[in-house]
Amino acid sequence: MTRPIQALVHSAALKHNLARIKTLCASTQILAVVKANAYGHGIERVYEGLRGADGFGVLEVGEAQRLRDLGWRGPILLLEGVFDPRELEECSRLKLWHTVHCQAQIDWLTRHKTHEPHRVFLKMNSGMNRLGFSPESFKSAFTRLDACPQVGEVSVMTHFSDADRVGGVQTQLDVFLSHASDLGGEISLCNSAAALLQPTRLGLRQDWVRLGIALYGGAVNAPEESAHSWGLQPTLTLRSEIIALQHVRAGQSVGYGSTFTAERDTRIGIVACGYADGYPRHAESGTPVLVQGLRTRTLGRVSMDMLAVDLECLFDTGQAQEAPIGMGSEVTLWGESSSGARLEIDEVAHCAGTLSYELMCGLSTRVPIRLVDHDDAPA
Ligand SMILES: *Cc1c(COP(=O)(O)O)cnc(C)c1O
Repeated sequence: MTRPIQALVHSAALKHNLARIKTLCASTQILAVVKANAYGHGIERVYEGLRGADGFGVLEVGEAQRLRDLGWRGPILLLEGVFDPRELEECSRLKLWHTVHCQAQIDWLTRHKTHEPHRVFLKMNSGMNRLGFSPESFKSAFTRLDACPQVGEVSVMTHFSDADRVGGVQTQLDVFLSHASDLGGEISLCNSAAALLQPTRLGLRQDWVRLGIALYGGAVNAPEESAHSWGLQPTLTLRSEIIALQHVRAGQSVGYGSTFTAERDTRIGIVACGYADGYPRHAESGTPVLVQGLRTRTLGRVSMDMLAVDLECLFDTGQAQEAPIGMGSEVTLWGESSSGARLEIDEVAHCAGTLSYELMCGLSTRVPIRLVDHDDAPA
């Protein structure tokens, strides 16, 4: 028998989340962001669920190529634009839209030979101080691009640093509007958090939202609100099984560093999942986990290939009698159990001091991933 860990990508949940977001962001076109191999899900696996989007956002030309290979003919935006002038040829060949965030990218464009003019998104640094033209230089960059024969349509964009808190976009939005609103061109401002949390504050025309985490069932303002409370479903499940049982006596400890000591005799399960699979090593003792769909907790430190879970509390409540627990029991580290119970990835992330983004992207290559449709009977 092979090691029992696996990840599941839920195609129907992706479709559901996209539909849900379309109702939340009505009248705006949606770029589904599939950078980082679709946040660890795999571009080929999410394509079916997300092809109802109006376009895709990617980081690298290779990702765009994969979308074209899947048959996608619609818009694809390179979120950081090209990294060198040769990539402009790929943009021509694959008909990519690309972000322009610095002077060098404009210089490369002016020397580029293309039959069809490119559509570009000019990016303003409105306060995040990562990428983009300063507000003061924005208009002249726009004018220069607009006059460039290699360029067709020019759209304008920016990115918010604090969209996950109330009022967090106001300063940047004011900066953006005062330097870009009279330029014309389609507008793209929002990531998931901004699109879901700030719509009334924005109160302005938006042509494109760039959505990643919400499509993948991650929370935009964890831990205050869960993805579930937004009507979003988990799209990625990490599951394994119990491969050993231990009867820990009161006073004995569990795992490296003996960080958990049993106060009473405790039955524990050893799960085939560790940090080398992408489960966060910093998940503290007590992080929630599902065994046979029943909620319990991890005990002690996560090791490279294994972690321990508390079974005693399931026997306590009599739940273990209803769903027999032992060797081979199913363990859901996050996502959905085969019985349909859910554990939000954000809860696990929170216990590890990180974000659902990092857990999704951090799934290790040794974990086999299976694409499932929510409606399928689980194998
Ligand atoms: C990754 C990214 C997004 C998507 O962000 P989410 O928080 O996952 O919705 C949007 N815009 C840009 C420029 C990005 O790099």
